[in-house]
Amino acid sequence: MAGLSDVRSGREYELTEIVKQRHFVYEGGVSVLSEIKNLHGFSVTIKTGSISGSRGQYISAISDAFKILSSFDFHKGLNKKIIIYLSDHKMVKNIAFMNGENITIFLGSRIKNHMSAAKPSKKSPIVSVKGGVTAGVGRARGIADYMYDVTSRQLFKNPKESAMIKTVVIHEMGHALHEHFHPEIFWDLKRESTAQAYNSCGWINASFDVSQYATTNALEFVAETFTGMALGEKYGKIVANAYSALGGPQ
Ligand SMILES: [Zn+2]
Repeated sequence: MAGLSDVRSGREYELTEIVKQRHFVYEGGVSVLSEIKNLHGFSVTIKTGSISGSRGQYISAISDAFKILSSFDFHKGLNKKIIIYLSDHKMVKNIAFMNGENITIFLGSRIKNHMSAAKPSKKSPIVSVKGGVTAGVGRARGIADYMYDVTSRQLFKNPKESAMIKTVVIHEMGHALHEHFHPEIFWDLKRESTAQAYNSCGWINASFDVSQYATTNALEFVAETFTGMALGEKYGKIVANAYSALGGPQ
């Protein structure tokens, strides 16, 4: 299991990745800083780079996400600042980094560009030993895409986009809380060589009940299951057992 030095080196590496992503956010030139000290019990700072559309929409969707998380008491025992960067720059991903002190979340352009339903493929699905599934789509669909699909359109507003932003924030916080409460398992799962040992908990099989994206790897399985649970989904025993064996936030 990952020891203190593994956790430390993993977190140090995250810091270098934060610097890279932050560079792209600020590349647009425009950056407005808005500080929200307390968002439903979480300490959140939102930093805005160049974005198209309404900043207010982002802020209310982010607030909705933290409201849901606080109703599960996830703010308790989390003594970390959360910094969220918003950017439409094409190099900015939807991604969370944990450097030990802070949780840094980037919300990139993909947030406005959801994956449409998979087109029928002539190729049969390939299941790899890692659990990844490809079936003729470039990228696996996650619960955020599903939430976009099931949310109704409305004139002059975009509730579909808001649902997607809210869900991506919950997903990224799922990774962050996983790392916070179980860093020793989290960093094992980050490394391919140590991740294999966790396959026996049955997450690969269980992931098919969660989402296509959950089949990518054990970390995504945890984040996607966390997201589904936060949004009210009740999973069966196979999913619940694998989730707790992997140290998923409870
Ligand atoms: Zn993820």
